[in-house]
Amino acid sequence: MAKVMFQAIRGMNDILPANTPRWQQLEACARDILQSYGYQEIRFPLLEKTDLFKRTIGDVTDIVEKEMYTFDDRNGESLTLRPEGTAGCVRAMMEHGLLRQGVQRLWYAGAMFRHERPQKGRYRQFQQIGIEVFNLNGPDIDAEMLVLCARLWAKLGIRDIHLEINSLGISGTRLAYRAALVSYFRDYFGDLDEDSRRRLNSNPLRILDSKIPEMQPIVNAAPILQDYLDTESAEHFAQLKTFLGAANLDYTVNPRLVRGLDYYTHTVFEWITGQLGAQGTVCAGGRYNALVEQLGGPSVPAIGMAMGLERLVELMGAEEDHAVSVHIYFVATSNEAWSRALNLAESLRDEVPGLNIITHSGGGGFKSQFKQADRSGALLALILGDDEISRGTVGIKYLRDAGAPQTSIKQAALCEWAKDWCHQIGLCG
Ligand code: ATP
Ligand code: MG
Repeated sequence: MAKVMFQAIRGMNDILPANTPRWQQLEACARDILQSYGYQEIRFPLLEKTDLFKRTIGDVTDIVEKEMYTFDDRNGESLTLRPEGTAGCVRAMMEHGLLRQGVQRLWYAGAMFRHERPQKGRYRQFQQIGIEVFNLNGPDIDAEMLVLCARLWAKLGIRDIHLEINSLGISGTRLAYRAALVSYFRDYFGDLDEDSRRRLNSNPLRILDSKIPEMQPIVNAAPILQDYLDTESAEHFAQLKTFLGAANLDYTVNPRLVRGLDYYTHTVFEWITGQLGAQGTVCAGGRYNALVEQLGGPSVPAIGMAMGLERLVELMGAEEDHAVSVHIYFVATSNEAWSRALNLAESLRDEVPGLNIITHSGGGGFKSQFKQADRSGALLALILGDDEISRGTVGIKYLRDAGAPQTSIKQAALCEWAKDWCHQIGLCG
């Protein structure tokens, strides 16, 4: 490829027209399903004050320690491009007083930014769809959220995916567990990698998340959180499992699944596929009953999750989408014919919804226009040349059926004819 003067920033991708149909399919599918469960969309800015992310995500997490795009704006205020959606969503809900208005089922979609090492499935700008539910204590809503996910995977044709769940209990549970972990890992201090040593004091639960192979035997023998669960948390978790069972949703309990953030309580989960190697988690979330209070708000139970769209699109990739995007290409060989074609195309759009029409622009003779018609993927060319203009007709040529003869009808009859044709090809009702 020719060398160009500018290239996109590393880890930030262009999504080209050949790929956007799959993205649109994913987004439309998710939107329909979320709507069918009563979720409403919320939109909030890409930029927030840096402190918001430090306070919500936590100072000692990977995101805040090393992944945020943080800079001073022209007023010297520290701002950060959102690395995830929960912080901005909670901020917006608090700012507009919506958390005092009962149950809220919300979703958002958009770009997130993390300065990670780019690789397949891991980018510096990536897209998430996230959902957050406020003022419900679960485990009923926890279970329904997972059922919703399963419906989405099925609709997208994603089969190789499984659910892992765990419970992190309440903050007292974690304090006791944390103490047990610190004393356990201390005994192996010499064998810990540098990150884990650092986390021993700041965030020992995160050590369980270590991806380093040499650490696995130590991690596997570590104390298990379940043994420290208080009664209320144990009941919440047991009921969640009962609900999932009754909904016929398969899952495994992964006692080492910790999402490491201080605000998580009770349910945490990940949806994982075997098809994307190390970037196999396509969706992750959990309950965060303590967060709103931590930010100075009322005590509001909440649960949320986010899915990575690049990873989902990759999974959908196997099933090629051959949807026709253009149905009709209008060929017009003079200025007068072009004006007529434009008007006819407008009438078709008025009267036959769902028809996608390109009206040829840029002039040229029949031959070059038909070439472009063919390349557009259109099923049909409608033709307006001098003859058709003088007779008040329009020519019809089937572009994907070499045997079909070219025909012609009166311009006044075009819309009726197009409605019939749409029925024949199954485009409308
Ligand atoms: P990972 O362990 O893969 O770094 P994470 O725990 O940092 O994931 P979350 O913050 O829970 O991820 O984000 C939810 C989902 O968003 C992930 O499961 C993944 O599908 C997607 N995601 C996260 N970071 C990236 C990234 N840098 N590029 C692409 N997708 C991402
Ligand atoms: Mg990460």
